[in-house]
Amino acid sequence: MMVKTGVCRVRKNIGGKLYTLIYGSVSSMAIDPIEKKPLFHYKPASRIFSVSTVGCNLRCKHCQNWEISQVGPENFSHLRDFKPKELIKLAKAHGSEGIAFTYNEPTIWHEYTLDVAKLAKKSKMYSVYVTNGYINEEPLLEIAEHIDAFNIDIKGFTDEFYMKIAGGRLAPVLRSAELVHSLGKHLELTYLIIPGLNDSEEELRKFAEWVLSLSADIPVHFSRFYPTYKLTDRPETPIKTVHKAYKIAKKVGLEYVYLGNTWEPEYESTYCPKCGNLLIERVYYNTKIVGLTDDGHCKKCGTKINIVL
Ligand code: SF4
Repeated sequence: MMVKTGVCRVRKNIGGKLYTLIYGSVSSMAIDPIEKKPLFHYKPASRIFSVSTVGCNLRCKHCQNWEISQVGPENFSHLRDFKPKELIKLAKAHGSEGIAFTYNEPTIWHEYTLDVAKLAKKSKMYSVYVTNGYINEEPLLEIAEHIDAFNIDIKGFTDEFYMKIAGGRLAPVLRSAELVHSLGKHLELTYLIIPGLNDSEEELRKFAEWVLSLSADIPVHFSRFYPTYKLTDRPETPIKTVHKAYKIAKKVGLEYVYLGNTWEPEYESTYCPKCGNLLIERVYYNTKIVGLTDDGHCKKCGTKINIVL
């Protein structure tokens, strides 16, 4: 009998039962500024031990990490196996207080991330999920219990974009973000703007209005696209387009809007939504907390900021 893997390339149906092929198989690891995830309102200015495996449940034509996300374990020669306790030990040895599952989609090594995140909690460490949000409710609830902060990619705000460019659907992603938010977990959102595909004023406004319907204080990161992988017929995103997205989101009422890949400190720094005081200054990946009290209030006007220090 022919045994096949699923679209993710990392699960096999053997005799009617699905088996993971990548439990504990690590493709890359690094210590990153947490701002690189991006998470701007969770442990700012810290560095986090970050890991990935191979495979993905989506097929984004613009995937920046396609070398690991679009291959299965049989096509990747550098996988190394780590037991959960070995990974925690390594993170600690590198001086990290947390672990980020990132670079490719963490959902696809669910069992492993669950075990690592549980152990991280026991070891007084935190866990971060950088995810496409393409996950069913049951496993999301299971993992969310042990994850402290999420960054969810909203790749576009039309179903057409998801079907044509990412190989998925929009609704499940929105449901995931809504669920994570309703659980009271720390949530930030990333929207990569691609010229001509997801950059219309209407689409950006609808996205911002949807975020507002959850909460005005969810940090939103608009990022610039660079031609890559199978999406090389599009130019890089003009700076004026991300500025337009920023203005739309602020006009809709979002309090914390950031721009990625523009390297403009005024669009990367955090300001008090009430009095405009500079709270966190970011220049490239140099982050300085300048206007916050130890318990996350604006030093100038006392407003409570949605931030975990
Ligand atoms: S969801 Fe992320 S990792 Fe997966 S293909 Fe898309 S961009 Fe790549």
